[in-house]
Amino acid sequence: FTAGAMLALAACASSPAGTDGGSGEGAGNGGLIGVAMPTKSSERWIQDGNAVKEQLEAQGFKVDLQYAEDDIPTQVSQIENMITKGAEALIIASIDGTTLSSVLEQAAENEIPVIAYDRLIRDTDNIDYYVTFNNYIVGQQQAWSVLNGLGLVELDGTAIADAPAGPFNVELFAGSPDDNNATFFWQGAIDELQPFIDAGTVVVKSGQTNFEQAAILRWDGEVAQKRMENLLTSTYSDGSKVNGVLSPYDGLSRGIISALTDAGYSVGAEWPIISGQDAELDSVKAINSGEQFATIFKDTRELAKVAVEMASALLNGTDVQVNDTETYDNGNFVVPSFLLSSQVVVKDNITSVLVDSGYWTAEEIKG
Ligand code: BGC
Repeated sequence: FTAGAMLALAACASSPAGTDGGSGEGAGNGGLIGVAMPTKSSERWIQDGNAVKEQLEAQGFKVDLQYAEDDIPTQVSQIENMITKGAEALIIASIDGTTLSSVLEQAAENEIPVIAYDRLIRDTDNIDYYVTFNNYIVGQQQAWSVLNGLGLVELDGTAIADAPAGPFNVELFAGSPDDNNATFFWQGAIDELQPFIDAGTVVVKSGQTNFEQAAILRWDGEVAQKRMENLLTSTYSDGSKVNGVLSPYDGLSRGIISALTDAGYSVGAEWPIISGQDAELDSVKAINSGEQFATIFKDTRELAKVAVEMASALLNGTDVQVNDTETYDNGNFVVPSFLLSSQVVVKDNITSVLVDSGYWTAEEIKG
């Protein structure tokens, strides 16, 4: 049976012959699954890759796990290789969501099902499912982090009575423009910040309020550091202070923190409130030491689990579980998706959220 034939059989109640049927432990058919990850330069993708590999292997699959160091041609050729090696399914976290159309044509010709992992793959008919977090809510949580640190809302966005009037100077950063997630994070955040901007409580002193101005290509922390340095020089040389920075990813937050430190800010009364995402170890330590105010925890083990369940169900001809069929239009069609939820982490709940769940050990997060 080819994967495609199995796919066709997925509609039938019975398992196709040639597999061991069932979708529980050990349901893998010994076949190869290709797993393409964007880069090892960010810790979260290492966690993702390891979790997907371990869980696939536990199901009896073989795994070809590749990282492309954020280089698009490398990722394309890694996926081509997976197809050549006879992968029966592909799980792909893209670098640029718009550049995989032609390699996915090849996957389709070989009847290989494709799961878009965390980042939507755009402009193609040749993906089957998408597993991710509710990225709009992640953006809202990032805005609530900043607003909470300034005393304006609770961590879940609830208004606080007698909140300070400000004005607070807040600068805005966005993710990589070729990553579909970046616009979802941005939109969620802006929708929460806008009422405060309209009321004059929050001021983007640089005036750089467009996504294009705020975006950081490839989520590069050094580029974020440079942009923060430029903002400090262009807008805050008059002695005024930045009170908050909306940052959509821990790696950018670390660059922003370096720029602030180099400009003479020190942790204490005048240190700004900085958000993040991914609960990367160095950033969890930075939350402990007060440099970063919050991060958004997206449990990569859960994401991996759903991706593995999807692959396993596809190859075993059982139903694939989705919980969203209207949000993620990839330009060609609305991709059936499974969305997971995320959690805001601040100093107070590092232990209950990250340590108690076994994501990091108490030892690892020590300064
Ligand atoms: C992911 C984020 C991550 C960012 C940078 C996004 O696509 O959803 O979790 O922070 O990429 O790697």
